[in-house]
Amino acid sequence: MASIFSVKHVMFTGVCKFRSTKFVLLKNVLSTPRFASTLSRTPGEYDYDLVVIGGGSGGLAAAKEATALGAKVAVLDYVTPSPIGTKWGLGGTCVNVGCIPKKLMHQAALLGESIHDAKSYGWQIGDNVSHSWESLRDAIQAHIKSVNWVTRVELRDKKVEYINGLGTFKDAHTVQTVTKQGERNLTARYFLIAVGGRPKYSNIPGALEYGITSDDIFSLNRVPGKTIIVGAGYIGLECAGFLKGLGYDATVMIRSVPLRGFDQQMAGIIVEEMRDKGVKFLHKCLPKSVEKLDSGKLKVSWVNEASEEFNDEFDTILFAIGRRALTKELNLENAGVKIAGDGEKIDAVNEQTNVSHIFAVGDVLYKKPELTPVAIHAGRLLARRLFGNSTINMDYDNVATTIFTPLEYGCVGISEEVAIKRYGEDNIEVYHGYYKPTEFFIPQKSIVHCYLKVVALREGDQKVLGLHFIGPQAGEVIQGFAAALKCNLTVNALMSTVGIHPTIAEEFTRINITKRSGKDPNPASCCS
Ligand code: FAD
Repeated sequence: MASIFSVKHVMFTGVCKFRSTKFVLLKNVLSTPRFASTLSRTPGEYDYDLVVIGGGSGGLAAAKEATALGAKVAVLDYVTPSPIGTKWGLGGTCVNVGCIPKKLMHQAALLGESIHDAKSYGWQIGDNVSHSWESLRDAIQAHIKSVNWVTRVELRDKKVEYINGLGTFKDAHTVQTVTKQGERNLTARYFLIAVGGRPKYSNIPGALEYGITSDDIFSLNRVPGKTIIVGAGYIGLECAGFLKGLGYDATVMIRSVPLRGFDQQMAGIIVEEMRDKGVKFLHKCLPKSVEKLDSGKLKVSWVNEASEEFNDEFDTILFAIGRRALTKELNLENAGVKIAGDGEKIDAVNEQTNVSHIFAVGDVLYKKPELTPVAIHAGRLLARRLFGNSTINMDYDNVATTIFTPLEYGCVGISEEVAIKRYGEDNIEVYHGYYKPTEFFIPQKSIVHCYLKVVALREGDQKVLGLHFIGPQAGEVIQGFAAALKCNLTVNALMSTVGIHPTIAEEFTRINITKRSGKDPNPASCCS
């Protein structure tokens, strides 16, 4: 009798709280022991079941999933303008100043290349083809505004409360914000920190006054002109690639190595390819100062390894030296949430911080891939665990990614150097090869950097540890193989897969030369 009463009681209180989906509520309340302590609180004690701080990829995905499962959710999203005053709407980095505008600028640059290729395919195109920065920028910004709008409508339709305010913790169950309507305190059973990050600036004179970052480039109200990009991570190289492709002089300043964290052989090939396309590189150099000249140009000074000083004039200096997680603004100490060893990010186990009802997803997480699909996937799975009785955790291993440089680089799994470190050189086999994309023949495009490699264990069927591909459409090529890797792909399976001819993805099914063999990895012909 007592147990029937308590189930009914739980159902009743759950219905009061969520006002929907009794079934899901009952499942929640009766399960997921990790969260049982918070569920024993008095019903109605909190304004929301979940308050999400940050309306970007991870936060929005979690919020929408949580409301679909019957939770009452609010999302706070606020964009602090960049030092030159750039700001944007709802949706976070990816939509506004990341993946989307970047891919569109990359596409614009590729189209420029295609116009030249088209002539050799018989298209009659005059020599005076020009590009308008303003038209491209306006088209991209119009697309972004439409996505901002759709995102807002979607939140309203899904009954997620959107609050355009900066959230800070007042205590472990209260977030404070200031909106146009005044100050608000929001209490919640659970919180999700999904605040992402913002670009860093070099600590040199003139950096903040005259520099821009990826936050500004996609909406820049003037042509970028001759540009120096400080930083050779993927964002720096991508920006340099599309700027050069659009016809601007582009120089990349590298402090140590390009594409740190990626396979360094592949990184080297990407740099060579970009150099061949006209991007300049300043290796082992550090910026020293930025000064505005009367002409309006920027005088940028830098030093090399030998402390020799150089300078040149540029129209734009773009800093791409890394990103800072936006945790300082959150007053995490008021909630008792600890910061990781890097002094900035949040170290969470299955997205749960050291405070059991406060979670984190996306770029703010310590030592996790900073990628949109990662943030989205982790946010959704978390919402299902909190409100849908799921026990499925996020798997951060073997996440595929692509760098959208002029010749793209897609990869999944580990690099050759990590494989050697982890398993020992004698225990891994690296298959590699250069290849000739059919489309490159007629315009006689350079094939010297079209290269791929497969890093595998040496024994047995040779389990694949990493796939690396440089070439056109690398993201499209790698995505399918990423699923295969999740299913424990082996070299044996790759070799017994029949390719699709003539494609570039089929090159993975044709691999047969190991680095160890010392054989020439150049292709004999296209079809053998
Ligand atoms: P975000 O999307 O950054 O969202 C966080 C939101 O929270 C922001 O709107 C922020 O203003 C807001 N916020 C911060 N603090 C507060 C606060 N206290 N209160 C209220 N709101 C707050 N990823 C890919 O997968 N593929 C790509 O090709 C790719 N290209 C990129 C290119 C560039 C130039 C950049 C910069 C990033 C790129 N990324 C790419 C990375 C991707 O954008 C991020 O991984 C992703 O956006 C992270 O999502 P998030 O939810 O963690 O944070």
